[in-house]
Amino acid sequence: MSQQAVLIIYTGGTIGMTNDPATGALCPFNFDRIAKTVPEIREFGFRIDSYTLPEIIDSSDLKPELWQDLCRIIAENYENYSGFVVLHGTDTMAYSASALSFMLENLEKPVVFTGSQLPVGKIRTDGRENLITALEIAADYMNGKAVVPEVSILFGDKLFRGNRTTKINAESFEAFQSFNYPPLAEIGIHIHYNYGAIDYSPRGGSLRVHNCMDPRIAILKIFPGLRNEIVRAVIDSPGLRGLILETYGAGNAPTESGFLELIREASVEKGIVVYNVTQCQGGSVEMGRYETSRELLNYGVVSGYDSTTEAAVCKLMYLLGKTGEANETKKYLNSSLKGEITVDRVGF
Ligand code: ASP
Repeated sequence: MSQQAVLIIYTGGTIGMTNDPATGALCPFNFDRIAKTVPEIREFGFRIDSYTLPEIIDSSDLKPELWQDLCRIIAENYENYSGFVVLHGTDTMAYSASALSFMLENLEKPVVFTGSQLPVGKIRTDGRENLITALEIAADYMNGKAVVPEVSILFGDKLFRGNRTTKINAESFEAFQSFNYPPLAEIGIHIHYNYGAIDYSPRGGSLRVHNCMDPRIAILKIFPGLRNEIVRAVIDSPGLRGLILETYGAGNAPTESGFLELIREASVEKGIVVYNVTQCQGGSVEMGRYETSRELLNYGVVSGYDSTTEAAVCKLMYLLGKTGEANETKKYLNSSLKGEITVDRVGF
């Protein structure tokens, strides 16, 4: 690659939507319209190409197959581009960015997800700034190395690690937040990179794609009054291999014996990997700190530490698919694979 070049991969989302004249509802439109609305991108001194997925979607229709497509497109074009910008709907962007962070091993180039709250065709759109900044970051190199060689989300005035990010607002232009990890960059007149937060750990070879996501998982959110029949129905779902328990605070769940017995049955008898993630946006699960989580620990429930639910879903799918086995999955759930939780990092 003699020159910087960025590939924009367009998947859909509000950024490229327009109002359907018949219904008035927003629906995805083609990429040419985006390019015409943001002609400034031609002023960058590097090549920009685009790839539109055959079926552009509202990201609420996202399925794990799209992650495979994105990984394939990135891998096939990896040598020809210095970075990638993925235009994606905001609703599930944090899932896709989390998934790709696990599926793309040894990534050394930027993969920047962005989108917008208002379509690029609207006067007050946030899409124009987001696209321009994402392109700049995707092409930013220092001494021949990418400044942000990981999967990230650029939205508004911040760049976040993809697997640390959550959508927090359906209206504000600052729609995303990373509660447990600092931004990788803050965007103002200049882009201020937080070099200490960016993943510069040594890679173990060239890019490898792991197309192994196993979607046979469920999320069970604990709430006062959750009936054991519901828990029973979930753990009895045919083929279930992983269960995310969204617990209170530092990982606490009811101590009522019927509930605990069901969790024991799921984990110990059925071999379902039960993964404890907090409902709180900030802070971490600390199993055993209270009586209300000690029993879960005894039943082999694994701590999600300070994981987002989005990262937990993708990590669980990834590990179940990659290891094919509950104990190995549990072992790696406990460690940081791509900086998604705050514990010592391991290679995998
Ligand atoms: N429903 C849209 C989507 O996620 C919302 C957006 O893009 O902001 O595709």
